[in-house]
This record gives sequence, structure tokens and C-alpha cells, in this order.
Amino acid sequence: MAEKITPRSEDYSKWYTDVVQQAELADYAPVRGCMVIRPYGYALWENIQAALDRRFKATGHVNAYFPLLIPYSFIRKEAEHVEGFAPQLAIVTIAGGETLDEPLVVRPTSETIIGHMYAQWVRSYRDLPLLINQWNSVVRWELRTRLFLRTAEFLWQEGHTAHATYDEAEAETRQMLDIYTDFAENDAAVPVIRGRKSESEKFAGALRSYSIEAMMGDQRALQAGTSHNLGDNFARAFNIQYLDRSNTLQYCWTTSWGLSTRFIGAIIMVHGDDQGLILPPKLAPFQAVIVPIYKNDEERSQVMGAVERIRTMLGEGVRLKVDDREGYTVGWKFNEWELRGVPLRLEIGPKDVAQGQVALARRDVPGREGRAFVPQEGLAARVNDLLADIQRSLFERAVAFRAAHTFYPKTYDEFRQAVENGFAWAWWCGDEACENRVKEDTKATTRCIPLDQPGGTGRCIVCGRPADEMAVFARAY
Ligand SMILES: [Zn+2]
Repeated sequence: MAEKITPRSEDYSKWYTDVVQQAELADYAPVRGCMVIRPYGYALWENIQAALDRRFKATGHVNAYFPLLIPYSFIRKEAEHVEGFAPQLAIVTIAGGETLDEPLVVRPTSETIIGHMYAQWVRSYRDLPLLINQWNSVVRWELRTRLFLRTAEFLWQEGHTAHATYDEAEAETRQMLDIYTDFAENDAAVPVIRGRKSESEKFAGALRSYSIEAMMGDQRALQAGTSHNLGDNFARAFNIQYLDRSNTLQYCWTTSWGLSTRFIGAIIMVHGDDQGLILPPKLAPFQAVIVPIYKNDEERSQVMGAVERIRTMLGEGVRLKVDDREGYTVGWKFNEWELRGVPLRLEIGPKDVAQGQVALARRDVPGREGRAFVPQEGLAARVNDLLADIQRSLFERAVAFRAAHTFYPKTYDEFRQAVENGFAWAWWCGDEACENRVKEDTKATTRCIPLDQPGGTGRCIVCGRPADEMAVFARAY
């Protein structure tokens, strides 16, 4: 039997680590803070990549690759950028046995090197917009790390675009936020709040940052993707200029946006239960697993014959795993695939072969309630319907969970209670002093100022001054 997973109610953080390791998503690397993504975790990431890449390309973006090493002087060119990233930089000072004239930074993000290249590639308005994405890893030397959620090196995509006008850059920033929202909700079944980050929470060097924020199973928030309008800050720092239609030199307006392997942490914590992972069918490496059941060679050949027919029936439309490993009991296999979050399990034994049926068990509905015998005839349609239903119900369940832990406090006392138990929507005057007081009193931060506001005005939950926007406050990963 596999090791036991710590129940969520006992120790949520231990539960998370147990699931990541026992489901074989990732493991610790010899360098502290680094992570090895194992094949099952990487297959999940590949599905996330494919789902995003399709959306990026459909909106006119192309992929490229920029180098890992960046001259240290580049990072210093944008004042806020260097201030924000300096504490987390890993720097190469020796290479080829020699001390380098100029140290090289292992990229923490690529605005600077891409800005440097864009300055050479953009000449006139005809070169704009420039819409490039890259799939890569970045390094941020974090002191407190957790698998997927915060690691010294992580995988992500970073999109970088340059535009002729501020309006176009803002439209791009918002478009990418909407793409992340669409991906999170429709493919990962993770409901998110789209919003603007406060001044203190925005990206170092950005004019304005937006994020999608999701509620995890322990009611804490996780920033699941970000999109930044960089204004002309990086264009001025790197001289990204173009000649407009009247032959006047203008600065470009740039954006950047990213979503990382951190998102895997969100999928684990939004859907998982005490048995382990529950993966949304659209992203699951295996959407269904067949566990054949037999006692002897004769039964084996009957059952495996039926398994082959089912495999053909389901065809390319379903990502299918047939677990025909010898030396493991059926019960062990059931546990293993439950732990690894496969949405649908098909069981087939000699009796089922004789009756032309198969048992289907849903991962999201444990026990007898989620299990049914269905005829092999018409199985493909049945499986596809069930997968769609699981996808939908995971999303609905997550929406209901978030709603049950979302509060609209009227007083500061209520507010303090609320952030202990989930998300608090509250009027906020926009003053950083109020934000800081909340952080000191409760460890909660402003997650975002939601784009979908209730309308009207109110009084700041902290200082009582008039406020025209609500913010979502929560403790966050
Ligand atoms: Zn205030």
C-alpha cells in the first residue's frame, strides 16, 4: 500500500506535500528550493501549456526564445524593477574559470533582455504590435519554498508585447487577463476573480498589474496568473522607439504577462480531497484508467480481449491508461489511481465480459454513489458525457466553496473574522496605510480590486473615509 496521506483537517500543508509527492507530481531537488517535476506532473504541465498556447496563437502571438543569462547592467536600467528583484537574484560571476568583467544575472523574468532586443527590432509603426511569448524557466532565490507554489526555479510562459499606443497596450493587458480567466475556469475548473493589483502589490516596474485570484481548499488565496501594463517605463529604460506615421520618434508601450507551474498548486488545492488529487478532465494526463480484473490466464485473455475492444471504441478522443501491471492487487490499483486523480475509472472482470458491461467510477463522487454498471455498447458517448459532467461539477463545487467562504463585513471586527475564514470583500480608500494596517493586524493582503465591482460607493473598512471601489482581502500563498 502507498503511504497514508495526511487528512486536510489535520494539517493542510502536510496534506499538500503528501499529495504532490505520493501522486508523483514532483520531488525535492538536491539544491534547496529547487524542484524536480516528475513525468506525471510534467504531463499535466504539457496539457496546461497546450491549452494556453492555443489561446495565445489564436490571438496573434508567436513563440520565441531569449537567453537565460542577462547582463547585470540591464536589470539596473529600470529603477523599480531592480529594487523589486535585487533580493532574489542569482548572479554568475565566474565562467570558464575566469572572473567575468560584468556579472550575469540568471533571469528572474525577461523584460530587460527582451526590451533590449525590441529596441533593435522596432523601427517604425509598421513593426507594431510585436506579440511574442516564450516558454522557459526563471530563477528567483526564495527563502521559503514549497513544491510548485514557490520554488527557486520554476517553469512558466512570459508574453512580451510592444504597441504604438497606451490604449492598445492596455487592451492587450486586459485581453491576456481574460485569456487566463477563460483557461482557469473552462479548462482547470478553477473559478477566479479578475482584478487590478494595488500599488504595493503590483509588478516591479509596471504601470498597472492585473491578476486572477483563486480560493484554495484552506480558504487562502493564490495569485494564479498576472498581466502587466508596463506603460512606457521599459520603453524609456531600453529605448524602444518607433517612427509614427508623421515621422516623429515615439516611445512604445509594452506589456508582459505570465502563468507558471504554480498553477499546478492551484489545481491540487482547489480540487483535491483526503484521497489525493482530483484532476479536471480537460487537463488530466489520463482522463480514464481501465483496471482489468482476472484470476487466471483464461480469464485474463477474455478480459484483455474486451479491454482492447474498449480501447478501440474510445479511440483518440479519450486519454486512456490501461493498468495491466502484474503483481499489484486490484484494490491497490484503485487506490493508486484515486490518489493520482484520474477522473474516471473503468473496471472490467469476467462477469462484465459475459454481460457486455463495464463498471464506471467517478473520482469526484466517492463510493457507491459515483459507481455504475453501463453497457459496453455506446460506451464512448457515455464516457465523454461523464467527463464533461465531471469537468462541470468540479467547477460548480469550487464556485460553491468560494461562495460559502466569501464575506462582506460591515465593521472592522467582522472584517478581521472574515479574513480568518476566507475572502473579504470590503470598501477600501486606496491608501497604502490602510492596507498595511490590515496586514499587521491579520496577515491578510489586498488580493485585487475586482474588475467586476458591485457599483456604488462606501466607506473604507479600515479608516472610514469615502471609498469608490471594493477590494478583496485574504491571506495568500
Ligand atoms: Zn482607508
